[in-house]
Amino acid sequence: MAVCEECGSVYAAREWPDGTVRVIGQEGCSCGATSFEVADDSEGGSPPDPSTD
Ligand SMILES: [Zn+2]
Repeated sequence: MAVCEECGSVYAAREWPDGTVRVIGQEGCSCGATSFEVADDSEGGSPPDPSTD
């Protein structure tokens, strides 16, 4: 999973060995951005912060 750095949209994505994060099936976000932040919760990373709600 990856989150668009511009608008926050979440996409299925893949992180390549060189560290580049690219969404699957399209060039970039629908907003036109191509920078994404990894949001992979399958590896026991940081849990959602309840204080933000
Ligand atoms: Zn976006």
